[in-house]
Amino acid sequence: MAYKITDECISCGACEAECDINNAISEGEVIYVIDPDKCTECAGNYPSPRCVDVCPIDGCCIPDPEHEETKEQLFEKWRRLHPGEEPTPGTY
Ligand code: SF4
Ligand code: SF4
Repeated sequence: MAYKITDECISCGACEAECDINNAISEGEVIYVIDPDKCTECAGNYPSPRCVDVCPIDGCCIPDPEHEETKEQLFEKWRRLHPGEEPTPGTY
């Protein structure tokens, strides 16, 4: 499922740069936000969600229960976002 950012976000911006392949993260009016149409849980690029890995606040980037998706659906999303590209082995 796509990830979301909670109100605990301190708007440090660290996650935005880490999502540079899918460009799913942007600065919102109050906190940073994730576009669920672009978040693949990093499937296709990284073995784990990069935003979670770099965020200084534990539990700030979390799976969004309103956007439940299987691994297959996440990888299909990656295919739509990256036509003609090859995924990184072991990330989907
Ligand atoms: S899980 Fe990956 S693709 Fe989704 S917002 Fe975080 S860094 Fe971007
Ligand atoms: S890394 Fe965490 S605290 Fe920093 S902007 Fe992203 S979600 Fe907010």
